[in-house]
Amino acid sequence: MVRIGLEIHGYVNLEQTKKKLFCECFAEHGEVSPNTNICPVCTGQPGSKPMLPNKEAIDKAVEIGLMLGCKISPKLMFQRKHYSYPDLPNGYQKTMSGSYSMPVGINGKFLGIGIQQVHLEEDPARYEPSTGKVDYNRSGVPLIEIVTAPDFTSAEQVENWLKKLMTTLAYIKAIHKDAGIKADVNINIERHPRVEVKNVNSFSSIVRAINAEEKRQKKVLESKEKTEQHTRAWDDLNGVTHFMRSKETAEDYMFIPEPDLPVIDIKDDYLAKLKSRLPERPDEKIKKYENMGIEKENAEVLASEIILAELFEKISKSVDPILTAKWLRREFVRITNYNQKELDEMKITEKELIPLLKLIQHNKITEKTGQKIMNELGLKLFDVEKYVKDNRLEAVSDKGDLEKFCREAIKENPKVVDDYKNGNEKAVNFLIGQIMRKSRGTASPDEVLRLLKKLI
Ligand SMILES: [Zn+2]
Repeated sequence: MVRIGLEIHGYVNLEQTKKKLFCECFAEHGEVSPNTNICPVCTGQPGSKPMLPNKEAIDKAVEIGLMLGCKISPKLMFQRKHYSYPDLPNGYQKTMSGSYSMPVGINGKFLGIGIQQVHLEEDPARYEPSTGKVDYNRSGVPLIEIVTAPDFTSAEQVENWLKKLMTTLAYIKAIHKDAGIKADVNINIERHPRVEVKNVNSFSSIVRAINAEEKRQKKVLESKEKTEQHTRAWDDLNGVTHFMRSKETAEDYMFIPEPDLPVIDIKDDYLAKLKSRLPERPDEKIKKYENMGIEKENAEVLASEIILAELFEKISKSVDPILTAKWLRREFVRITNYNQKELDEMKITEKELIPLLKLIQHNKITEKTGQKIMNELGLKLFDVEKYVKDNRLEAVSDKGDLEKFCREAIKENPKVVDDYKNGNEKAVNFLIGQIMRKSRGTASPDEVLRLLKKLI
């Protein structure tokens, strides 16, 4: 059996400050020239001291810990993690991980997988060995690290879980979604010692790295070669892992508490405030929706984006939840894609959707009319009830009118009627089409079919 654990790294999404962890430089700067987003602090100039940590980054880290069911540490402390590499101007990284660490959160659990630690640290600079150049733009940008227990037993399980983790963290906009994630993967099969595969950069690479390493470890065990715990690098191009170094221990990093920064007290009222503004998790929402009678697949789609989930919850208070789920999942997502927008760019709200879905639920307009109105709403917002009235889009509920259209269609198409009488069931669809046209799409096709059968 294979056992897999993950160390997941992602950039903290800073909605307000957009500043680095210990200075005023921009943390999110897009594509700019190297070394243009720097100051004495994040380039480690002699005599420079860190500013107090970016409070928004601390808040986000605590929120992530809470979402993953962690116990939040009452005190937070940065340590110096020493190593010598050109990407670290000070010769140490300021991090909440390490041997005497007080991580932001510990002992969590997310969808059956243990969360050992959640912590915050600064990103090192970018060193390019081929040119020897160092770009400090990203030096000091806040990074979040999530360490899982070795609870995974397959690459597929890792991938599914990671997708759900990302959906959950997107609910609180905690991780920068464009910057992606990186992971170190701990993996061992049976008696093989644990191997850490460093710096795997995408979901698909994580799956490939696990499968490749599993295969390699099997071979090692079969050959009875001696092996010990070590660190490997992932070669994405060739799909293999390479030996990197023997596993370093915590002593190698000479952790010491950061003397230039105070210990941060996490007070109860602060925690209570953060907790109160956290949303339900997607897995909790899916369960809730299923209890409302929504099919699992629809419930999962609704819960996959907090915007859809919130819209669903607002609308389903006054419209049939099953109808709401179907329309949001199918039609709302359709027009979002059609208009090449993200869900959060759509201007349509419950203000338009509640009256629209109510009209459909009470058969005041047909589904087809509903779809057309959705298309129009995708372009520009309007008062749905007024629009239906002004454009005379109410479904033909007057039986007399509908019967008149049916009789006309029968009279105008004697050959089609004969075909139908001679057993060609499909011929009736042509007649339905004619009647829909006469009624400007406002007739209910089921009702038309029932009437036609009666009249022919
Ligand atoms: Zn700076």
